[in-house]
Amino acid sequence: MKTIAVLTSGGDAPGMNAAVRAVVRTACENGIKVLGVVRGYNGLINGDFIEMDLRSVSDIINRGGTILYSARSAEFATEEGMRKAVRTCREYGIEGVVVIGGDGSFRGARDLSERGIPCVGIPGTIDNDIACCDYTIGYDTCLNTIMEMVDRIRDTTESHDRCSVIEVMGRRAGFLALNSGIACGATAILIPEIPFEIEKHVIERMKRTQRTDKKHFIIIVAEGVGLDVKQLAAEIQSKTGVESRATILGHTQRGGYPTAKDRVMATRMGNYAVKLLMNDIGNRVVAAQKEEVLDFDIFEALNMKKSVDMELYNVAHEVSI
Ligand code: ATP
Repeated sequence: MKTIAVLTSGGDAPGMNAAVRAVVRTACENGIKVLGVVRGYNGLINGDFIEMDLRSVSDIINRGGTILYSARSAEFATEEGMRKAVRTCREYGIEGVVVIGGDGSFRGARDLSERGIPCVGIPGTIDNDIACCDYTIGYDTCLNTIMEMVDRIRDTTESHDRCSVIEVMGRRAGFLALNSGIACGATAILIPEIPFEIEKHVIERMKRTQRTDKKHFIIIVAEGVGLDVKQLAAEIQSKTGVESRATILGHTQRGGYPTAKDRVMATRMGNYAVKLLMNDIGNRVVAAQKEEVLDFDIFEALNMKKSVDMELYNVAHEVSI
């Protein structure tokens, strides 16, 4: 293997840079040329490459976002776009591609592998929604960011005897909401995986804790449930008499310097991905399970289902009252 490419695709996640760094350094140390692809699959279609060396990834392990930029490429998902990308890879002598992104990006990697360009996916998404992994790069940082933000909101919520209804990211998954809800002692946590009724799971819970003299409340809502948190806050206020405010944490959850866990795991995964390609193994997803780094066939990985840990949900339900 003489030349590989590395790209970041889909939503950016803290720790992507640490993964890029590990890919570049591992490849360089093994005599492989690395092309950094700018703006995800768009860069692969258009030949927008930067030749990377050991020093081009200096001072990035601590930075959020991605130095390679990210994009969502509608063109790449078409037959013509895919053909163009394959042509560009051949033109530049690219024999393998490391794709750092979420499940959409892995679908692209699978399609590219099927057309003869071996790809290895690294799970980089704050949502932690990749089924074969119990951890994805960026999730730990995002979870800690949410915790810090909610702690700040809690100070003012407590000072004014209010209820704060806080929407957190996660796309269609509730992992960020469930775990941040536990970490922040939320009275109620609403996630898309578990059916709920506002009356029973929010209002009644609040009223019950009011009877034990609780005066301020945190309600965590996953964006995936599709609720309008302003409306929910208004409903809570009218039914409980507690002044309620809504906060959408938004993109503040994406940025910031990655945690040690994200940096270490991203480094291990980046190194592992290049080793797979060096052994002529493509069409794989690098995964983390119980702190161990391993790999799966992309197709199989995309067909796996990830469910919420009911035990964890029950713990939250029992303790956060
Ligand atoms: P995140 O979970 O952070 O949103 P993601 O990788 O799932 O990340 P997507 O927008 O779903 O983000 O996908 C990123 C890119 O992958 C798309 O813009 C597209 O170029 C490519 N892609 C997605 N789905 C497919 C598909 N079915 N076939 C080919 N390429 C795809």
